[in-house]
Amino acid sequence: MEGLQMNGTPETYQYIEGEWRTGESDESITVVNPATPIDPVATFPGGTATQADAAIEAAARASRSWEQTTPDERDQILYAVADLIDSQQEQLAEILTKEEGKPLSSSRGEVGRAAEIFRFFASYARTATGKTIPSNDPETFTYTIREPVGVAVLITPWNFPIATPSWKTAAALAAGNTVVLKPSSETPMIAKALVSLLEDAGIPDGVLNLVVGSGSTVGQALITNDEADAVSFTGSTETGQYIAETVSQRGVPIQTEMGGKNPQVVLPDANIGSAAAGAISGSCGGTGQACTATSRLIVHTDIADELTAAVVDRAESLSIGPGMEDPDMGPAVSAEEDASNFRYIEIAEDEGATRLTGGNRPNGFEEGYYIEPTVFGDVTPEMRIAQEEVFGPVLSIIEVEDFEAAIRAANNTTFGLSASIYTADMTASRRFTREIEAGVVKVNGTTTGSQIQMPFGGMKDSSSETQKELGQEAYKFYTHKKAIYRSDP
Ligand code: NAD
Repeated sequence: MEGLQMNGTPETYQYIEGEWRTGESDESITVVNPATPIDPVATFPGGTATQADAAIEAAARASRSWEQTTPDERDQILYAVADLIDSQQEQLAEILTKEEGKPLSSSRGEVGRAAEIFRFFASYARTATGKTIPSNDPETFTYTIREPVGVAVLITPWNFPIATPSWKTAAALAAGNTVVLKPSSETPMIAKALVSLLEDAGIPDGVLNLVVGSGSTVGQALITNDEADAVSFTGSTETGQYIAETVSQRGVPIQTEMGGKNPQVVLPDANIGSAAAGAISGSCGGTGQACTATSRLIVHTDIADELTAAVVDRAESLSIGPGMEDPDMGPAVSAEEDASNFRYIEIAEDEGATRLTGGNRPNGFEEGYYIEPTVFGDVTPEMRIAQEEVFGPVLSIIEVEDFEAAIRAANNTTFGLSASIYTADMTASRRFTREIEAGVVKVNGTTTGSQIQMPFGGMKDSSSETQKELGQEAYKFYTHKKAIYRSDP
């Protein structure tokens, strides 16, 4: 393919101790463009458990010297990565769109965000500090320091395939850790491109390693290796809970950010136009494949008809097409997600929900994994369509009589990632921010989207709640704290 800026050869996706290696698995990984899955974009041999172990060993060997680099040495490399990402924004966006399917302008935005993430964490290589604490003994100086944990294993999904690896990698490296990154096999090309840029920016051999292969072999080897000192995972709740259980048996720090079933509550005094816009951008942006996607629209009966009409109207106005043509909405990422979307349409109808719009493969797009933006009415909080993560552009409307019923419905799920309320009532919005069970809460804003300097993470089954990602304190997950008592001889 033209325009790809990657190191190694088209076959080499394992980056271990500064060397691009071919995967040793008998099974190959095939990357397809979800807009035209018939033409593979790349095929290469996957990595093995032995290669995953080799990557951990390389990271462990490089650990001491990287830990001893000065903050400004680390920050210079991370700033250089940010500049390189910016300089190749268009090529990176194209890689991302070709393997994940999202519209080109969304990919450009995500790539730009990755550069900002590296800048943000670069600056805190210098600022991730301990504290001085008043001492009971005037002869003794008491303070805390933060030290890197050692080797950080980072496991990431496909839906934000450059932003998520970037925020884990940048935080871990800035805090002085070495890294083994395992991206999703759906989106290995953008991960390889990112690691190539880190290599070009001068990251020393062994400090950052990449292994691409199946979760059950490569991922499993990484999480069970005794030399992995911390594991940070983003992905589905099922996999995350399994990984958390496996890793915590070894007493190793584990961070998991997982699925969501995010509600948007709309009260009668809301701005209906902006509530409808928020619901559709939240549910259909990225083809509904965001962990923070809006999937339940919980609306007060008084405005239900008006809001429903506005939402359906907006859903029907979205353009659909190949990501490279930059429509409003691209295809789902894979055959598996495609099948799951249509399965949930059937489930919702079997349960008695009313399909108000969408739910079909759009005409003229039979080849790719496309689905129309879909809105269901007559949904009750207990239905599977209101309880399970669909991960597609499917919005369920639940009508409620009052604020209390809205909060009850919003909290009536095992997930607790993101939530929003649209209202002009200050008291109601203040109550909502207190009573809602979610790690990210928006007032008059959609459930998706977050700022880099704000902590990000969920509650309940959406997160291990060990330490938020992003924000000023993200480094805490990647560091040990020591309490020092220092007296004169
Ligand atoms: P997934 O759980 O299938 O896979 C995530 C990663 O885990 C992949 O790299 C996969 O190869 C790896 N993996 C699978 N089994 C493993 C094992 N036994 N050991 C180690 N690694 C293993 O998730 P996905 O389908 O790639 O992503 C979609 C999911 O991610 C959705 O549920 C979404 O809500 C969630 N997500 C959450 C957040 C968040 O911050 N909360 C952000 C984005 C996506």
